[in-house]
Amino acid sequence: MTVAVLALQGAFIEHEHVLEELGVKTVELRQAADLDQPYDGLILPGGESTVQGKLLRELKMFDPLKKQIADGMPVLGTCAGLILLGSPEHFGTIPMQVKRNAYGRQLGSFHTKAEFKDLGLVPMSFIRAPYVESVSDGVEILSVVDDHIVGVRYGNQVAIAFHPELDSDRKIHQMFLDMIS
Ligand code: GLN
Repeated sequence: MTVAVLALQGAFIEHEHVLEELGVKTVELRQAADLDQPYDGLILPGGESTVQGKLLRELKMFDPLKKQIADGMPVLGTCAGLILLGSPEHFGTIPMQVKRNAYGRQLGSFHTKAEFKDLGLVPMSFIRAPYVESVSDGVEILSVVDDHIVGVRYGNQVAIAFHPELDSDRKIHQMFLDMIS
């Protein structure tokens, strides 16, 4: 199995390390030509969604990547990746409303442990995180923290507001790999 990691900006190397630790081959997506190689799943890392969206367009990766996702490529979006998937200014392939930098300045970054569907308690690191304000029909809610939705699944797409690659728990990545295979 090969998993591609969008490697334009943000915490992509951390995802690659986790995947390598789990014995999965990784490829980096840095330019449009990288989208033509074979891979079985895709990770959109945390970082800055505005910058990522701009680079995706400048590098002509936006449309082909959106098509791959719409055509069923398994995708895991974390933090900024959730914003790319959920926001109509970006891919907007998950019908939901996303609030960026949702926790304000005081709670800009925090760590907690919370229930995640089928996984039990999962450690969660939030860094200037978004949350999901509401979801349309068909979007499954996977996790809620303090009344805010922080994890969803919509068919082939999983989006979470936190950074699983920054904790040592591997349940989220394992769930994604199970989803691919
Ligand atoms: N605040 C960032 C954004 O709006 C997301 C933060 C993150 O990915 N850790 O894109």
